[in-house]
Amino acid sequence: MTSSRRPALRLHIDWTRCDGRGLCTELLPSVLDRDDWGYPLPRNHTPEPGIPAQLQPDARDAVRLCPRLALTLLHPND
Ligand code: SF4
Repeated sequence: MTSSRRPALRLHIDWTRCDGRGLCTELLPSVLDRDDWGYPLPRNHTPEPGIPAQLQPDARDAVRLCPRLALTLLHPND
């Protein structure tokens, strides 16, 4: 039996680059909350939250559109 589940990616936030504009929190509201200054806060309180398969297109948009190039998608073995 094969599984249709793809391995979850993880979202890495480079805090030395992020300036809290909050775009990623708008694209991934179920993964990222935002603090009072607009900085993303992973809702599951892990430093690199997992990205379910159905949210991977939105996560890729967030990586591409982040104005500070602060986001990276990590694969399970990264
Ligand atoms: S989109 Fe980029 S700069 Fe904006 S809050 Fe998210 S990680 Fe930070």
